[in-house]
Amino acid sequence: MPSLNDIRSTFLSYFEKQGHRVVPSSPLVPRNDPTLMFANSGMVQFKNLFTGVEHRDYTRATSAQKCVRAGGKHNDLDNVGYTARHHTFFEMMGNFSFGDYFKAEAIPFAWNLITKELGIDKNRLLVTVYHTDDEAVEIWKKVGVPEDRIIRIATNDNFWMMGPTGPCGPCTEIFYDHGDHIWGGPPGSPDEDGDRFVEIWNLVFMQYEQFEDGSRKSLAAQSIDTGMGIERVAALLQGTNDNYATDLMRSLIEASADATSTDPDGPGKTHHRVIADHLRSTSFLIADGVMPANDGRGYVLRRIMRRAMRHAHMLGSQDPVMHKLVPALVRQMGAAYPELGQAQALIQETLRLEETRFKQTLDRGLKLLDDELAGLSEDAALPGASAFKLYDTYGFPLDLTQDALRERGRTVETEGFDAAMAEQKAKARAAWSGSGESADAAIWLDLADKHGATDFLGYDTETAEGQI
Ligand code: ATP
Ligand code: MG
Ligand code: MG
Ligand code: MG
Repeated sequence: MPSLNDIRSTFLSYFEKQGHRVVPSSPLVPRNDPTLMFANSGMVQFKNLFTGVEHRDYTRATSAQKCVRAGGKHNDLDNVGYTARHHTFFEMMGNFSFGDYFKAEAIPFAWNLITKELGIDKNRLLVTVYHTDDEAVEIWKKVGVPEDRIIRIATNDNFWMMGPTGPCGPCTEIFYDHGDHIWGGPPGSPDEDGDRFVEIWNLVFMQYEQFEDGSRKSLAAQSIDTGMGIERVAALLQGTNDNYATDLMRSLIEASADATSTDPDGPGKTHHRVIADHLRSTSFLIADGVMPANDGRGYVLRRIMRRAMRHAHMLGSQDPVMHKLVPALVRQMGAAYPELGQAQALIQETLRLEETRFKQTLDRGLKLLDDELAGLSEDAALPGASAFKLYDTYGFPLDLTQDALRERGRTVETEGFDAAMAEQKAKARAAWSGSGESADAAIWLDLADKHGATDFLGYDTETAEGQI
């Protein structure tokens, strides 16, 4: 049974043999790209090659890219713990052509790799294509995919975009059927959100560049960008539909169970999954230079960390836990990503400090949450003002409160939360303009408003009690 590390090597060496340059993963924080919070796919580091702004001494590349999807256009934070196939941090394997080959080569490359090199059973595979893409349908038929396994999709699922702007194009995706003992329907069907038919590989035909005003222009050269989730392929090659049962994730789950003296498969199972996932995203983010903060990227990191810490707390652990799991991660992934080992001490110390601080308010916050819920009718949403108090006084990011409520089948009144946040901003503005230094301050407050809540948190929460 191939390990995740074996699959990475097979993928890269296959494309190297087909003339692709093996390019290391770029850091999670994109260089010079304000449009994106974190690398969310393999193409991010090649964006300017697709648009023709940059040229290199190769026109074919392959990589295993570190990705984080915990905000922005592709946000999987709320899926973690609930689906068997989503992570906040995952590795995307890819092959890329910059004006070199196009559909007629990209499809056979992919088909050979999965059916021959990786030996995946053809009879369990099906593919989707963008509804108007007859050319892709013909190529799939040519490689031997029966017509009833080629599904035309008209939605954006088969039109890939990195974010609101940038290179984009129609795509074709490969799905694996894990069998009818698992709930879920084929792509395009009403119950496609289940874990039975799992999307493993997306091949994007890069043809356009999208601009801020929504207009699109054709790229000078047609290119290929593909992305395969290594954890999903590891799962199926290891005979499971569950990414969290693969060698790598399982060892992190066991580390979490050890550190909390709990059963990895007992009632705390979901907590362990979330912890294992968030351990990877937080550790890799810190290794790439992100530190917990009250705004921007650092706040996304803090939100993920605190979520994991609440889950550790739910397992009954009195002491900080997350930092104890870092050695297990370094053992698993340190060889492929040496930055993890180099930053190990920093990662551990950052996690330990953050968890120590957050624990001071976590208990009281959870108690407040319980008290508030006890006073509400059974299915009522938590009032926004209560969620705001948890945020402002106890350092609970909104999504942490939502995550805690979801376990009980409840939600937050987000309008009330937003209103309380706006009120706090207005108060801050009034206090500031009364202080005599209004001219400059007002400019900053206006800027903060213009750039939205995330940036504004920089100001809001620095002054809020219990945030740091
Ligand atoms: P899904 O529909 O399952 O959320 P996606 O369509 O958002 O996936 P793409 O943007 O097409 O995913 O990314 C390419 C590949 O990366 C996917 O086919 C999948 O194998 C993998 N992938 C995407 N998101 C995740 C995730 N959150 N965790 C693990 N693997 C992922
Ligand atoms: Mg997705
Ligand atoms: Mg999809
Ligand atoms: Mg996709």
